Amino acid sequence: MNEEFHELLTETRKQLEHLRVLGVEGISGVTLNAQVRKVGLPPPLAERAHVPLPGLPISHTPQSGDQPVTLFGDLTPAAATLAPSTETFEQIHCEIGDCTRCPLHQERTHVVHTEGNRQARLMFVGEAPGADEDAQARPFVGRAGQLLTKIIEAIGLKREEVLIGNVNRCRPPGNRAPTTEEASMCKPFLLREIAVVRPEVIVVLGNTAMKNLLDTREGITRLRGRFQDYRGIKVMPTFHPAYLLRDPSKKRETWEDLKKVRDYLDSHRSANL
Ligand code: URA
Repeated sequence: MNEEFHELLTETRKQLEHLRVLGVEGISGVTLNAQVRKVGLPPPLAERAHVPLPGLPISHTPQSGDQPVTLFGDLTPAAATLAPSTETFEQIHCEIGDCTRCPLHQERTHVVHTEGNRQARLMFVGEAPGADEDAQARPFVGRAGQLLTKIIEAIGLKREEVLIGNVNRCRPPGNRAPTTEEASMCKPFLLREIAVVRPEVIVVLGNTAMKNLLDTREGITRLRGRFQDYRGIKVMPTFHPAYLLRDPSKKRETWEDLKKVRDYLDSHRSANL
């Protein structure tokens, strides 16, 4: 084996072992242990009694269940699976407190937290509260929220069964979109809630939610209807219900997107009940 390749492999082994020690369970749908074994690392301690320690040079006999692996293409940190969190929503909300981290606090009445089922399989993420949400301290309770409730019911779920949140928790003046800075102050709390619940699917409503959850420069019109990935969680971008109120002709595409979500959840139900 040429020396450069050997060095490369040694470095890769170290990186994979490091990720495994950090608790990363999988990379792009491939379990980390399988990845690690493919580059010749020993299996985790629990398995070592049954599997002989592999040594270099690597000889991996393909197994029927193996998935194709591209050694470097899969190793992006963004693709790593979300590790479970032991935090509670109460702890996160307590830390947010009477928030003054960004200028949006100046005109808000209430901080609007994520609400719903904390064991939800499905989560919806919007942009930021509007006037009704600001007054009632609850996400998606105005006209757009009522339409969202109908959308949820159309796929056979009740509003209480899902989780509903926003990138920002304070109402931007005039219902403008939050700025990148405002979103970056608030988003970490949403991501912590996602790590607590680890829903199977997140529906991102509109451009702001989509761009904040996915590292993309694409617009909603291009990405909607196609499953994306947020650290091992399926993400379905679709139109924001406020946009559907302005242009009802877009409801048909939204319905197509939501049917894909329903079908995905239905087809994975047995594994999770
Ligand atoms: N629009 C949003 O993006 N979020 C809400 O909570 C309400 C309207």
